[in-house]
Amino acid sequence: MDQSGSEGSAIGIDLGTTYSCVGVWQHNQVEIIFNDQGNSTTPSYVAFTNTQQLTGEAAKNQAARNPTNTIFDAKRLIGRRFNDPFVQNDIKLWPFKVIAGDDDKPKIVIDYKYEEKQFSAEEISSLVLTKMRRIAEDYLGSTVKNAVITVPAYFNDSQRQATKDAGVIAGLNVMRIINEPTAAAIAYGLHRRSKTDRERNVFIFDLGGGTFDVSLLTIKEDVFEVKATAGDTHLGGEDFDDRMVNHFVREFKRKNNNDISESPRALRRLRTACERAKRILSSTAETTIEVDSLYEDIDFSSTITRARFEDLNMDLFRKCLETMKTCLSDAKIDKNNVHDVVLVGGSTRIPKVQELLRDFFNGQELCKSINPDEAVARGAAVQAAILSGQRSEKIQNLLLLDVTPLSLGVGTKGDIFKVLIPRNTPIPATMEDGFTTIEDNQTSISFGVYEGERTRTVDNNLLGNFRLSGIPRAPKGVPQITICFDIDENGILSVSAEEKATGKRNKITITNDKGRLTKEEIERIIEEAEKFKAEDDAYKKKIEAKNELEHYVFNMRNAIEHENFSSKLSLADKKIIEDITEQTLQWLEDNQLASADEIKFTMEEFEGICVPILVKAFQDIVDVGARGASSSSFEGILNNVLSMSSFSGLNLE
Ligand code: AMP
Repeated sequence: MDQSGSEGSAIGIDLGTTYSCVGVWQHNQVEIIFNDQGNSTTPSYVAFTNTQQLTGEAAKNQAARNPTNTIFDAKRLIGRRFNDPFVQNDIKLWPFKVIAGDDDKPKIVIDYKYEEKQFSAEEISSLVLTKMRRIAEDYLGSTVKNAVITVPAYFNDSQRQATKDAGVIAGLNVMRIINEPTAAAIAYGLHRRSKTDRERNVFIFDLGGGTFDVSLLTIKEDVFEVKATAGDTHLGGEDFDDRMVNHFVREFKRKNNNDISESPRALRRLRTACERAKRILSSTAETTIEVDSLYEDIDFSSTITRARFEDLNMDLFRKCLETMKTCLSDAKIDKNNVHDVVLVGGSTRIPKVQELLRDFFNGQELCKSINPDEAVARGAAVQAAILSGQRSEKIQNLLLLDVTPLSLGVGTKGDIFKVLIPRNTPIPATMEDGFTTIEDNQTSISFGVYEGERTRTVDNNLLGNFRLSGIPRAPKGVPQITICFDIDENGILSVSAEEKATGKRNKITITNDKGRLTKEEIERIIEEAEKFKAEDDAYKKKIEAKNELEHYVFNMRNAIEHENFSSKLSLADKKIIEDITEQTLQWLEDNQLASADEIKFTMEEFEGICVPILVKAFQDIVDVGARGASSSSFEGILNNVLSMSSFSGLNLE
């Protein structure tokens, strides 16, 4: 609750594979909220050390020192099974350990405070979401509960469910899961609104850190209608980085006869250098890579040209074109009738990607007017504002019509996939179909629920097994069973069945629970997350206390070195202050793990020695200051002393 007693602001979070971004609707526009480092995007990194848990920049910055306990790419794991070929492939490249948990659910194994711990991708993502929530809370000065979270349009049911669960673990009320390209389209539509009110066919090309999505929308005034979407949930900047890393691993081997791929630390450092080089290559034709002591004290230095980088990734770039064709054909819109091609996601800065895109659309200029890193969070913030009932002429009539990315259906005789809801059906959607028994006196039926585009069930993704029992005995073919598929606004499916042959209704509802966290597990994780929060708070307090102590000690040390100040002190008092200053600094150095309370205690000791000396030496000033409220505190006295005109030349910060 904020001070006004309202529900507080609702935020929009773009939970990215490599970076996340948060926005809020304020003062009749979206504000992208900067983190404590002054950046609009925050690395989706979580790290565990022997003393604390870190998120964002703090986690990424220590990755080379702590590679096996620094987790990134959780979005590439979320909602997937351990045996998924993509997961198996990624594991080979990640410096952290992933094992198969119950139900083939991947678990990340790390060391935290000298103990082995296992985390699901949902938990890691929830820590990133918590970080984004805190960034928003610090900026807004109030608690944030409600959020819209974005997912790639091509995310399947399990991936959406798992992302929603991550939000719940982060203590958020997930108002809606929306598709990233659709969110970007809202940002783009609002941005352009004043320029036209004709219906426009807008093609969103979203190539981020880990995923690729395209959507074709029509935008007319306040109505945003998705006509089709397509994508690849495993294609993005991380793959381009991988290609470059592999290139240099091979080069290192050639030059030094050493295989660095076994060293997580070397791979981590090389990867960071490669990502930097990749970004530079978007604006220059050639760049260098330099990593000191990359492996066994061997320095590594090399160059890479833009042409080489493009060559290493050309098949991946071309893959994007195939996906675009599918989307346009599903939308039944010719590419010549596309009015705007909008770039979203950091990887759209790659010149070759832009060139291929421009060529595909016969030389059409690409829209780069919205920041590709922020567009998705902007759209999410708008949706959050609408759902929380914000009244603003700009957005209150906005209508969003999205679609489901994958066909959904059931397995039938001969393992044939029967589609109930075809892909690109507008959501929310409900579809029913009739079934019956295949044997006399059959009292139960069971079938698999699948998503995908292939004819055989085995080639599609099994969402869950559905069982309906209690069917009254009857000859085969007599019972009439209606199966109902329901997709909500989040693109999440639930299935129910009803048996009506005897007029007796028998209805059960399942949601996909295969590989999903159970309710109990989510509750347990939430409890643990509370502990993280408490640790996080304790860490914050400790840093504040440490900063405060250091601030005063350094001020004191600077002050006594200054003639105007030290001339007021006796030699003996000066020595006492010098000694306690040095001792305190040494104490801080030796006690890095000290708690906030221990630091405060040291601060009191420091004050206990310094204050009486200052009071004695600067009686006149302290007396004047004593009329001020804070003069009895060390801070008050020191400030009074230091703000005196005779010391005004001191630079005490
Ligand atoms: P996003 O998830 O949209 O924030 O995209 C992040 C991805 O964009 C990361 O893989 C970045 O390495 C990549 N990226 C950001 N800036 C550039 C750039 N100038 N050139 C190439 N890739 C970039």
